[in-house]
Amino acid sequence: MHELGIVVNVIDEVEKVAEDNKVDKVLRLTMEIGEVSAIVPDLFSDCFEWAKKRTKHLTDCELELIVLEAVTYCQDCKGTYRTTKYGKTCPHCGSGNTYLLTGNEVTIKGISVAEPTSDNA
Ligand SMILES: [Zn+2]
Repeated sequence: MHELGIVVNVIDEVEKVAEDNKVDKVLRLTMEIGEVSAIVPDLFSDCFEWAKKRTKHLTDCELELIVLEAVTYCQDCKGTYRTTKYGKTCPHCGSGNTYLLTGNEVTIKGISVAEPTSDNA
């Protein structure tokens, strides 16, 4: 289950950002996951829920996953198409001279943090 390794890396990165910005709590983490990336979103969420309990700043963090559609580009007819439907072969001209444009991202898109709390609250 390599999702766990990726989750740990992501959490490390977010923890570091939180430390650097003197953030107490990260409330929401938004990530973009390409649909042909090595990540299974459900597994990723499960690993995240497990791993966040062991963190300093992410214990109340919600995970939002945005799944990005995979698109392949054909160098012969300059067309694009859905990767998950046609794979490496262009449905327009039948060429195999294609490459993935988008779809294997695993990117931290943004984080939301708690407002600094006041002692008078
Ligand atoms: Zn083509």
